[in-house]
Amino acid sequence: MSGDCLFCRIVRREVPAKVVAENEWCLAFHDIGPQAPTHLLVIPKEHVASLNDVTDHGIIARLFAMATDIARAEGFAEKGYRTVINTRDDGGQTVHHLHVHLLAGRRLTWPPG
Ligand code: 5GP
Ligand code: ZN
Repeated sequence: MSGDCLFCRIVRREVPAKVVAENEWCLAFHDIGPQAPTHLLVIPKEHVASLNDVTDHGIIARLFAMATDIARAEGFAEKGYRTVINTRDDGGQTVHHLHVHLLAGRRLTWPPG
């Protein structure tokens, strides 16, 4: 499964991406179709299809730790930002490798569509 997975291919640098942060467990890069002035995706390096498929829940903390570190480093922590995980069809998930969307740089509306 991970062989064909787009985000696994980004982890392996087989598909180019604008990477902004990386550690042992996670990778953060720019979304190809940004929905805000800053739109990043934070993913586990290991293939996990969705939030439903997480077995080591420590990965959730590591993903959000990287997201908040980026928010502080890039200077939008104070003004605010949104972190979103879409899960499966009704959640709007289109890439089946777990990812946290990190959106910032404009006033975001609620509720989502
Ligand atoms: P989802 O809809 O699954 O929550 O989010 C998938 C996200 O991946 C979308 O926001 C989409 O723009 C982004 N995306 C899809 N293909 C690529 C790609 O090849 N490179 C990057 N950087 N982002 C992608
Ligand atoms: Zn994958």
